[in-house]
Amino acid sequence: MSAAEETKGGLNRREFMALAGVAGAALAAPGLFVTDAFAADPLEMAPLPYAMNALEPVISAKTLEFHYGKHHATYAANVKKMVPGTGLEGKSMDDIVRATAGQADKAGLFNNAAQCSNHAFYWKCMKPGGGGMPSGKLMAAIMSSFGGYDAFRKAFVDGSVGRFGSGWGWLVQEGGKLKVVSTSNAETPLTQAGVTPLLVVDVWEHAYYLDYQNRRADYVNAFMDKLVNWDFVAANMK
Ligand code: FE
Repeated sequence: MSAAEETKGGLNRREFMALAGVAGAALAAPGLFVTDAFAADPLEMAPLPYAMNALEPVISAKTLEFHYGKHHATYAANVKKMVPGTGLEGKSMDDIVRATAGQADKAGLFNNAAQCSNHAFYWKCMKPGGGGMPSGKLMAAIMSSFGGYDAFRKAFVDGSVGRFGSGWGWLVQEGGKLKVVSTSNAETPLTQAGVTPLLVVDVWEHAYYLDYQNRRADYVNAFMDKLVNWDFVAANMK
């Protein structure tokens, strides 16, 4: 086994980076780079793009500790356990979602992979000090597709709040138009040809219950007003 393989198998990314920081010279052996060691594991969970308490008071650190650290982490661990032997080894999370969608014998893997994909996207849809109005080409597309920002906002909030049970509220791009859709459980528009997800809000109870209890509408409205990372949403447009 090479040094690179030993490192990949024995350390997670955070451990590797910490070790590299204190023993960089020792690790700077020929052929041993961070990309070599970790690019081979596309299922590694990306770090949150902000601190656990960065979205307070809209979403508490306690919610993110459970939501990212327990719920998302459990889905990710399940995928890693379920992939071996499926022929999907080495594929990205989104490719696994597309490859397993609609297959009854792969429902467990689809559900866990889609929840990983959805959560990874959701974290990036938020930022501290976000929310408010979008601008530029995204605002122009919203105006032409919905007739105005308020009409879009109402459609997105109503669709997300009205999703029965667990699921997700989305803004998507399809055929040059923007649309609001919602999906149940782990379902994602990613599996539909020609549909590009732009924005998502998690409306599973675990996303808001510690902070808002049953008040899903308060959570979705606060998400829109104070958290949405419109730069990320605009960057997803085709
Ligand atoms: Fe969630």
